[in-house]
Formats: sequence, C-alpha cells, structure tokens
Amino acid sequence: MTPRWMNEAPVRTLLGALAQGGIVARFVGGCVRDWVLGRPIADIDIDIAVDKPPEAVMKALEAAGIKVVPTGLKHGTVTAIVKSRPFEITTLRRDVETDGRRAVVAFTDDWRTDAERRDFTFNALYAEPDGTIHDYFDGRTDLLAGRVRFIGDPEQRIAEDRLRVLRFFRFHARYGRPPFDGPSFDACRRNAATVSGLSGERVRKELFRTLDATGAADAFDAMLEAGVLDHWLPEYAGSAKLRALAAREETPDPLRRLAAVLPTEADATAIGKRLKLSTQESVRLQLMLDPANAVETANLRASLYRLGTKLFIDRVLLDAPGDWRAALALAGAWTPPELPIGGNDALALGLKPGPKVGALIEAVERWWIAGDFSAGRDACLAELKRLVDAETS
Ligand code: ATP
Ligand code: MG
Repeated sequence: MTPRWMNEAPVRTLLGALAQGGIVARFVGGCVRDWVLGRPIADIDIDIAVDKPPEAVMKALEAAGIKVVPTGLKHGTVTAIVKSRPFEITTLRRDVETDGRRAVVAFTDDWRTDAERRDFTFNALYAEPDGTIHDYFDGRTDLLAGRVRFIGDPEQRIAEDRLRVLRFFRFHARYGRPPFDGPSFDACRRNAATVSGLSGERVRKELFRTLDATGAADAFDAMLEAGVLDHWLPEYAGSAKLRALAAREETPDPLRRLAAVLPTEADATAIGKRLKLSTQESVRLQLMLDPANAVETANLRASLYRLGTKLFIDRVLLDAPGDWRAALALAGAWTPPELPIGGNDALALGLKPGPKVGALIEAVERWWIAGDFSAGRDACLAELKRLVDAETS
C-alpha cells in the first residue's frame, strides 16, 4: 500500500513528466521515514532522487509544462513547482571531495553509491512510486528501534561534514529513543568542538529543528553533555523549563522553546547575531526573557493589554503564572482595546506640544486600565480635562 501523498495529483504529474523523459525517480528522506513509521508528513517536504543529470531533469519537466527552478545545480538539485507545491529533485551523486563543510560532487546513476553519501541509515531509505522500498543499510530496523546511526564510519562521516554532529541530535530528537547508538554518539562527542567552524545559518536551522521536535529536551541535554553547545549556546540553562513548556503548548514554537532553555539574563542580541536570527526574532526573544514582562496573575487583562496578545501567550506558556489555562483562554477570548484618546485631545484643551502631553495621556491610560478599560472616549476626555484643570488651578 502506497501512502496517500504519493498518489496526489501534483506528485503523479511530476512522476509522469520524469518518466516521460526516461528518468527513474524514487522518494527519499523525510517523506519515506515518516511513511515507514506511519506518521503524517508535512506536504511541503517531498525529496526525490533521480538517475539523470539536472539538465535532463529540467528538460523533461519543461517539456511537460512544469515550472522548474535551478536551486542548486552544482549539487544536482532543482526545484519543481507543481500547483504551487515545491519538490526538491536531486540527481544521484557521490561526494568526491569534502572540506568538512562543502562537497564537490560527481553525478552517478548508481543508487547504492548515492545511498552511501547520505548521513544516517534511515535517511538512505528510498521508495519507488509503486511503494517498493530500497533499504541499503538496515535503516528500517534502526528507524523502528529509534536508533540514529551513521552510515559507515562515524568519525569519517563527521570529518566529511561536521554539520552531521548537529543533525545527529536533530534526528534523535525526532525519531530517537534511548540509548544512543554508542559509536555514533561517541564520535559526535569527540568532534563536538569542530562545529564551531560552521555557519550561523546552518547551525540555526539544525538547532531550531531540534527544538521543534518531541525529544528536544533530551537532545539538548545530550548536546550539553557531549560539548556540542559550548560554542553555539554556552548560555544553555538546562531543560527543566522546556519540558514544562512542551507539556503546556499545543504547537511547538522553536524560538519560544529557545527562550525556555536560556537564563533570563541572557543577551538576546548576542545570541541573535550568533544564530543569525532576524531583528524581529531577536526582539521577541529578548521580550520573552525580560523579567519585566512577567504576567501579573491578579491583573490578567492589564497584563494582556500591556504585553499584547502574542507576548502574553508566550509568557503564560513559559512561566505558567497562576491559573495559566484561564489566562490562555482570556487571550483567545478578549482583544485588548485601544486607549480612546490621544495627544491631539490634550492639544485641543490648549496644551503646548511637549513631554507634558505624553505624561498626561499616560496618566489617563493608567486610570483607564485601573477601571478595567470600561471608560469610553467621553469619560477619558473628562478625566483628561480634570487632570489638566487640577494642574493649572
Ligand atoms: P526534513 O524532514 O528535516 O526535511 P530530511 O531527511 O528530508 O528531513 P533534508 O535536509 O531535507 O532532510 O535532506 C534530505 C536528505 O538528504 C536526507 O534525508 C539525507 O539523506 C540527505 N542529506 C541532507 N543533508 C545531509 C548531510 N549533511 N550529510 C549527508 N546527507 C545529507
Ligand atoms: Mg527534506
């Protein structure tokens, strides 16, 4: 029995176009792993391996009227877009030369050769369009046992590409069960220091995917123990908060989970620079860490107004203040209103522009919040006038 995604129209269209061009295609990577485990796949992630060079692939797809983008020609990868869904199509290859980061590749038409250059046994599972599985290194057994195991000699595989140290923990977080495969873990530990030479972008991607996974807390503790976090996340403060957060949140959010493993005094800007976070992400991280943004349980609506819905939810999930379920429910049910007056209203009362205006409006805002946001525009204007009169009398 083939999985449903394999028979969806865009997938069949793509396979048809490749076959028409005399190209043999097999599914590989995440979609096959998840199929073997009976897990649903994110429809965004279907990787396909093919036995012909990328130029031939592009020609076959274009002949069938399929849009194709040469996303990584040097490595044999093109991206086909069918009904606005992207598919990565990569030519079978062998890594000729590696410097620990990037490989020079040669194309091949031999499936086993292609399998050998992949990192873990279950990442070399291929599925033919009719559902036949090819498993060159007992990846299926490892997958079902929750064992992340390097293909070949772990030391050598890490020397070829040290990102694999991080990928080891990433896949463990998603598919692994204790204990670790001994030789694989030991090699990662011995080579932990080499990950310092990687680019922030690649590290960020792996760390975020690790954080996103069910086994994130165990994986991070193991990375700490192995020395993998020394360079990229020396701030790591343990997994206790992450475990509690994971039990509360409905959908994992990697950045929020990152906040959960950091001490409140961590420098979000420095971490953002290191891990190539966007400015927006760094700011959100900082806001999630700042003790000043704690939710006041006695004053939920005021906190929700002050923090805004998104940050309020982050802080409720991270800190679990009081009845946190009730706080979450409130955030879903009530949108904080906007203060019904502004600086112009103060000017209309004859005040000159300046800091005084801002201070007065803030005073009215405090009064309005203390009254649980019930005062409308007229009442707020009256309060503003009262404050102005009190000052001038
Ligand atoms: P995901 O669900 O995260 O996309 P994936 O296994 O599909 O998981 P990709 O990064 O999309 O991961 O890579 C697709 C396949 O390419 C992998 O399954 C693996 O076989 C191979 N691969 C990717 N990166 C490496 C690497 N650094 N070293 C060896 N093989 C790799
Ligand atoms: Mg993938």
